Amino acid sequence: MLVFVINCGSSSIKYQLFDMPARRQLARGLLERIGEAGSAVLTHRAGSAVLTHRAGEGKWILELDAPDHRAGLDHILRALVSGETAVIDDLSRIRAVGHRVVHGGEEIREAVVIDDAVEAVIERCAELAPVHNPPNLVGIRTARAVLPGCTQVAVFDTAFHHTLPKKAYLYALPLELYERHHIRKYGFHGTSHEYVATEAARLLGKPLLACNLITCHLGNGCSMTAIEAGRSVDTSMGMTPLQGLMMGTRSGDLDPAVLVHLLRNGWVSDVAELDRLLNRRSGLAGISGLGNDMRTLEEHMETNERARLAVEMFAHRVRFYLGGYLALLGRCDAVVFTGGIGENDSLLRRLVLEGLEPLGLSLDPEKNAATVRGKPGAITTSASRVPALVIPTDEEGMIAASTYELAK
Ligand code: ADP
Repeated sequence: MLVFVINCGSSSIKYQLFDMPARRQLARGLLERIGEAGSAVLTHRAGSAVLTHRAGEGKWILELDAPDHRAGLDHILRALVSGETAVIDDLSRIRAVGHRVVHGGEEIREAVVIDDAVEAVIERCAELAPVHNPPNLVGIRTARAVLPGCTQVAVFDTAFHHTLPKKAYLYALPLELYERHHIRKYGFHGTSHEYVATEAARLLGKPLLACNLITCHLGNGCSMTAIEAGRSVDTSMGMTPLQGLMMGTRSGDLDPAVLVHLLRNGWVSDVAELDRLLNRRSGLAGISGLGNDMRTLEEHMETNERARLAVEMFAHRVRFYLGGYLALLGRCDAVVFTGGIGENDSLLRRLVLEGLEPLGLSLDPEKNAATVRGKPGAITTSASRVPALVIPTDEEGMIAASTYELAK
């Protein structure tokens, strides 16, 4: 069965086509700058959207006209079946579409087949995820229109965290704010945390339900999860993906009074500017002044004080949550690193793990240095009471698997 996985952003569509259940990837790609037709008129260019399509060893970059997501999805589907980019002969071979959806609120606890009621939940949750859920919904509506014969499945970033206990998900605000307005921690990156937890259990040779794990998804967005007996019991992101660790451009945790102070003094002009400050101008980029790419910061940290500070702050926060989650769990079977930084950045992993022998974690510097570029494995010594594992994440593969299970 062919399963098409879509992750729809406000001006982009990320996609992968899988042959299931083998999880064989036939094609993947990214269409960016959807809806920038206006600028195409100004610059007199034919198309302003850019499609990067990969299949096998091939890679194509095409400039296209995509005034909206519907036109964008049409281009992508055409690339799958025609010309040199083609990987299948007929779109009717695609039987199911899996959609990544960011927020499922409290109502949705697992992947679901999409119907009008599910669309309505995603729409209601847009209040909690105004940047992500509306484009996710556009993707769903477009795919339902363009591929009407397919089973459409939604896989939610929040779903894995539905097991958080109330003491972990409530903020210490007046309880009415939760009861009336659903203000609470939801947690994100659930598909990734669940995937690497499942893989870690497999590597440990134990059922997931018998494992206590701490999973660290460190990419542009960063979050950590404490997993007890296979279930998420606390996670660092909150009502939105802004809480918790320091990230590429997001601040993570701070004293909420800082926001009051900034607004009261007029140091940010309005709520929109505050939102931009916290989500786009902070984190590694805000501290370093050199951007949000960890590789760039590490290249400059010997000579650039701000770059060094950004890297050290990032590691400090991860250590802080690691210590907290070790205490929450009591017994921990493994710490897992994933995401662009978690999978590749041996320096960062060393800054996080060194000196933690008293907590049962003994880093093996050689194994750590050798574990990069999608190579899974342990980075602690064989005597380490708690192993630390690097496991490359595969959110799209996980979405394809959930979609296949529901569609077959
Ligand atoms: P996203 O959250 O957008 O999916 P990724 O998981 O791809 O992002 O992670 C992006 C981050 O990973 C960037 O900060 C990038 O610098 C970092 N990264 C990727 N490769 C390496 C590497 N070899 N060493 C250090 N950092 C890396």
